[in-house]
Amino acid sequence: MSASISAHSYYQASTNRVFEGQSLRSDVKADVCIVGAGYTGLSAALELAKAGLKVAVLEAQTVGFGASGRNGGQICTGFSPGQGPLEAQLGKADAKRAFDMAEESKTLIESRIADHKINCDLTWGYLHCVLKPHLVHHLEEWAADYEALGYGGNTLLNKAELEAKVGTKIYHGALREARAGHLHPLNYCLGLADAAQKAGAVIYENAEVTQVETGATPSAQTAHGKVTAKFMILAGNAYLGRMVKPLYGRIMPVGSYILATEPLGESRAQSLIRDNEAVANTNFIIDYFRRSADNRMLFGGRASYSTLEPSNLAEYMRPRMTAVYPQLKDVKIDYAWGGYIAITSNRVPDCGRLSPTTYYAHGYSGQGVALAGLYGKLMAEAIRGQAERFDLFAKVKHLPFPGGALRTPLLVAAMMYYRIRDALA
Ligand SMILES: Cc1cc2nc3c(=O)[nH]c(=O)nc-3n(C[C@H](O)[C@H](O)[C@H](O)COP(=O)(O)OP(=O)(O)OC[C@H]3O[C@@H](n4cnc5c(N)ncnc54)[C@H](O)[C@@H]3O)c2cc1C
Repeated sequence: MSASISAHSYYQASTNRVFEGQSLRSDVKADVCIVGAGYTGLSAALELAKAGLKVAVLEAQTVGFGASGRNGGQICTGFSPGQGPLEAQLGKADAKRAFDMAEESKTLIESRIADHKINCDLTWGYLHCVLKPHLVHHLEEWAADYEALGYGGNTLLNKAELEAKVGTKIYHGALREARAGHLHPLNYCLGLADAAQKAGAVIYENAEVTQVETGATPSAQTAHGKVTAKFMILAGNAYLGRMVKPLYGRIMPVGSYILATEPLGESRAQSLIRDNEAVANTNFIIDYFRRSADNRMLFGGRASYSTLEPSNLAEYMRPRMTAVYPQLKDVKIDYAWGGYIAITSNRVPDCGRLSPTTYYAHGYSGQGVALAGLYGKLMAEAIRGQAERFDLFAKVKHLPFPGGALRTPLLVAAMMYYRIRDALA
């Protein structure tokens, strides 16, 4: 995967600490070799190193270079498509177990932040807002579905209540979740790396893997050395590209972009999102936004199935923000960046084994801030001999995306379809 989408972000400009990785200069032996230092790889590394295994993480660039260091920071509930595809494939009881594990992924974030003193602005509270009056009943159904899953603490807000909270008139109501929220994604990722390193994992940066062997003794080759291990975890997500052919067609990279305004000052920022919740609309191609700790507006949108970056990202994103907040039309945009979200065909994450020694997990379909940490942990459990929870998710089947020349045009067409569907909804 080309790394062409801009990496310089507000997050990079506001890291509270620079994480120093190692350089790989010779061949290394480990119990587990992990490719990719985002949430998935680092979560697995932390668990495995804590259990006393020798772990080597290989990161092509720097820790958090991929989606984990660029995302909207929104901690979401459950799975991107809801429970439907899971219930259809696993049955209601196992789909409920899957939902409970997704809930566990939030507790995992919380406990890791507390245990490892990760300074990443964790804030709870999430508003899902509807753009049309007739969509309000979807929110009621959504709340009832959550209630049936035993997931409480959600409130329905009418238009007036929502307006008082979000300083815009474009929405007609919202579902407020108490147990979803937001954080500084790169600082959280660096904190995980720090914790994994302190637990004994060795994290090599600027160590791009160019070839993997997935047999009885798996190995990963880089330009400056090879890591040979008993187990391997492939955690490159959308950024793995074509390097591991059997994984390539299982996910599709979707470009998503975020802008950060100049600091707005506390009272102006409060006039936009009074209670500092994460906010999103309910469109398929969603807008997601929140305040930063220094009172900027961070406004993101899922924008493109094409891997071509829009030429002026800040101005490309500005109209999305001003459609919600016309009062921000003149603010300065300090940063704009993008990254690749990996989606699967049914929007449920994809995980499994390429061989008895080689595990993978990817395709969180826009919900990886919480889920990637969980899947990393489940792979660590499986490698340590407790595969039952991992295998529940590994049972979920996904249709591959088309390859070859049809791959991108078909998805661009799909994108048009969803744009029209959102407009007509
Ligand atoms: C703009 C954007 C906004 C998003 N917003 C949200 C959100 O608000 N909430 C949410 O829940 N999710 C969101 N996501 C998705 C979320 O960020 C991801 O699901 C999650 O970070 C995936 O973590 P990961 O560790 O699997 O992959 P990544 O974080 O992408 O990490 C993969 C790593 O592997 C490395 N790598 C790849 N190939 C190789 C190789 N050959 N050799 C060595 N290293 C390699 C890459 O450099 C990269 O650092 C967003 C994503 C983007 C891009």
